[in-house]
Amino acid sequence: MSNIQVELAKTLKTKPTDEGKLGFGEIFTDHMFLMDYTEGKGWHDPRIVPYGPIPMDPSAMCLHYGQTVFEGMKAYRTEDNRILMFRPWENFKRLNQSNDRLQIPAVDEKLLLEGLEKLIEIEKDWVPHTSGASLYIRPFIIATEPKLGVKPSSKYLYVVVLSPSGPYYKSGLNPVKIYIETQFVRAVKGGTGAAKCGGNYASGLKAQEIAHEQGYSQVLWTDGIEHKYIEEVGAMNVFFVIDDEIVTPELVGSILPGITRKSSIEMLRGWGYKVSERRLSVQELEDAYQAGKVKEAFGTGTAAVISPIGELKVGDYVMTFNDGKIGTISQKLYDNLTGIQYGKLPDTHSWMDEV
Ligand code: PMP
Repeated sequence: MSNIQVELAKTLKTKPTDEGKLGFGEIFTDHMFLMDYTEGKGWHDPRIVPYGPIPMDPSAMCLHYGQTVFEGMKAYRTEDNRILMFRPWENFKRLNQSNDRLQIPAVDEKLLLEGLEKLIEIEKDWVPHTSGASLYIRPFIIATEPKLGVKPSSKYLYVVVLSPSGPYYKSGLNPVKIYIETQFVRAVKGGTGAAKCGGNYASGLKAQEIAHEQGYSQVLWTDGIEHKYIEEVGAMNVFFVIDDEIVTPELVGSILPGITRKSSIEMLRGWGYKVSERRLSVQELEDAYQAGKVKEAFGTGTAAVISPIGELKVGDYVMTFNDGKIGTISQKLYDNLTGIQYGKLPDTHSWMDEV
C-alpha cells in the first residue's frame, strides 16, 4: 500500500438536485488527486486535496510546447448502490503509452488505480443515481518545469478531477450525422494519433467547426497522406457492418486504441460475429453502400458508448445507413455494454472494478 495523504475539504459543494439536467464536464466534485514528478526523485507525494486551482508558473512548459496527456473514463452506480469502473487498468495502460510518446516519465499503474479508487470512495455521493448518468473521470499530466526551450520537462504534475455527467442520450440511442474529412488531417503514422494528448484535439477543432456549420456532429478522419482510408471519428472509433463482416480500421499508429473499441470487438467475436481489423477505404465503403451491402455504421467511445451513424457525407455524396434508424448490432452492443457497466448484466469478461 502506498502512502496517499488525504486533506478533506472543510466545506462541501451542493450536489446537483436534478440529475436529468446534468451536462458533460461542467461541474466538479469536492476533491482531486495530485502527484508530483521531479527529476532524480521520480513520482512522489500522491495526495487527495480539496478541488481548486493549481498554481502554475507562466513559463510552465505544458503551456508552451503542449507536453500533456490525458485519459477519460467513467464510474457508474448500480441499482444496488455499488460503484463500478469500466476497465480502468486499460486507461492507465494507455496513459503510459501516451506518456512514452510524449517523453513523460511512466507512472505506476497500480498506484494510479489505488489513488483513483480512494478518490472515488471519498466522492461516492457524487456518482449520479440516474440511469445513463455517470461520474466522468479525467486523469491528466502536465509538464510544469518553468523553462522556455523545447526539451522534455524535468517536472510534472499528475491530476485527477471528477465530473458528474448526464446521460449522453436523453431519450435512448440516437443516430448521428458524420462528415468525412478530406482536407484537414488529424494524424499521420509516426505522429501522435495513437496517444491521447491535447494537441490532437486542438488541431481537429477547425475541421470540427466546419462540419458543425453544415449540420454534422463530428468529423470522420481519413489517413493523413492520401485521404483514402477511414481512420476514426473525433472522439470515437468507427465500425461498419458490410454484409456479414464487421469492419473497423486497424490500429496503424495514427488511431487512438479505444477501450470501447477493444471491448466491442471482444464482445462481437464472443457472439460469433466476424470482426476484421483492416484498412477500409472510402471508395470501398461507397462501393459497398451502392451495392446495398452496408447494413450499419456506428462509433464507439467512453462518452456515448455506442453511437449509431445515421448519415455520412463525403464531398457532395451522402450515405444513409439503416434508414437513419438504430441498427440491431449497434443496439445489442449498447445494451450489453451498458448492462455490464451498470451492473444489470453479469460481468462475464471481468471488466468491472468495484470501488
Ligand atoms: N478516438 C479518439 C480520438 C478519442 O478521443 C476517443 C475517446 N477517448 C476514442 C477514440 C474512443 O476511446 P475510448 O473507447 O477509450 O473512450
